[in-house]
Amino acid sequence: MFPTFAVMKTDSKVAIFPGSFDPLTLGHLDIVQRALPLFDEIIVAVGVNNQKKYLFSLEHRLDMLEAVFSTMPQVRVDHFKGLTVNYCKDQGADYLLRGIRSSGDFDYEKTISQLNHVIGDDLETVFLITRPEYSFISSTIVREIIKGGGDVTSFVPPALHSMLQI
Ligand code: ADP
Repeated sequence: MFPTFAVMKTDSKVAIFPGSFDPLTLGHLDIVQRALPLFDEIIVAVGVNNQKKYLFSLEHRLDMLEAVFSTMPQVRVDHFKGLTVNYCKDQGADYLLRGIRSSGDFDYEKTISQLNHVIGDDLETVFLITRPEYSFISSTIVREIIKGGGDVTSFVPPALHSMLQI
């Protein structure tokens, strides 16, 4: 007779998806949706940098994130100040999630992830390559179109279409 062992799940896999989300785009949403099977929880966290000028207020960006992610039980919306590695520690997250659109993104993200691995106690960054149809979408471009009075409905989730007036 062999003893039976219960398979117990001890620690859950938590990932932080940090960003400015000024505003959230279909590219961001796609990264989160594709990462859902990889993690138990994903925290979409707005990094607050007081030196940076944003188009949308922190409160409005958080409202927009809630409008998009409130139907996904695995996703939590939050914000943080200071070093991302410290926020990960506070949240018990062992993973960072980032999207890669181009070799420019890659070069930048590679350095940051290597740095975070050292100062963040082996914090791992998981990269997902953008789907081709979203690779040209950036919050910067969406902001410029909004400022110019153009139509951004092809670039942002439908839940945000009525929330992007400035
Ligand atoms: P940050 O100010 O940290 O760059 P962003 O909100 O611009 O914040 O981006 C957050 C993350 O989402 C980054 O990893 C970025 O590369 C990724 N991202 C942004 N746009 C896209 C897109 N169209 N497709 C895939 N990933 C994207």
